[in-house]
Amino acid sequence: MAKKPKIAFFDFAGCEGDQLQIANLEEALLDLLGHIDIAAFREVHTGDTGGPYDISFVEGSITRPEDEPRVKEIRDKSKLLVALGACASIGGINCMKNHMPESVYREHVYGDKARWYPTYAARPVSAVVKVDAEVHGCPIDRGEFVRIVKELLLGRTPWIADYPVCVECKIAGNICRYDMGRMCLGIVTRAGCNACCITEGAHCWGCRGLAPHANLDAARYAMQDRAGFTREEVQDLLRMYLGFSQATL
Ligand code: SF4
Ligand code: SF4
Ligand code: SF4
Repeated sequence: MAKKPKIAFFDFAGCEGDQLQIANLEEALLDLLGHIDIAAFREVHTGDTGGPYDISFVEGSITRPEDEPRVKEIRDKSKLLVALGACASIGGINCMKNHMPESVYREHVYGDKARWYPTYAARPVSAVVKVDAEVHGCPIDRGEFVRIVKELLLGRTPWIADYPVCVECKIAGNICRYDMGRMCLGIVTRAGCNACCITEGAHCWGCRGLAPHANLDAARYAMQDRAGFTREEVQDLLRMYLGFSQATL
């Protein structure tokens, strides 16, 4: 019988919500386990049977100099490395701190324990090592994760949406948040989530990263000049998830 592909999960700075999504796959996970060997998955079992790994999923942003040798070692031991979730794929919410004075975020986040946690500007995994594929979202979508794993195991490049959330939002029949006097980043954000936040009554925060060819100048014009939001309000929304990208400069 052919050897099963060896899969590993690793985490850096993040809440581990993406790994939790995978642990909660239930029947789909059992089905997947028939086709793969899990070498490391701290949220589910202890230990690591060691590399080389066929696919490593890396969750979380890189936020400390000492993260770099660790993620490089994972890269060296992995045929494919996949960024799992917004923190790993686009830098995500950890990058909010990149736009604050260091003293503010350190005091705010760590209080009098700040000296215990030396960090540098948060960044996505791709800023340090080559990434072969990304699973977007905060947290990731379980169904999309399973599809991407299957595509990778079949040797294919996983399909990811290359159009903005607005497309899925229109299909879902939602009223545009701008028509309700609210802001929404669906105009520049990569789709694939079925516009779930808007359908649930909220707006898009941009957790799946910028859509390819997103027109940021037009988006700023729509948000500020047309909808009347201030530059600060627009920047705050853009910096929630997109703090590593040029969108927030
Ligand atoms: S992307 Fe979201 S769910 Fe995943 S680790 Fe970061 S904060 Fe948690
Ligand atoms: S609510 Fe957001 S995602 Fe939906 S159409 Fe309007 S801008 Fe696009
Ligand atoms: S609507 Fe926006 S914030 Fe919500 S899941 Fe989709 S991309 Fe993320």
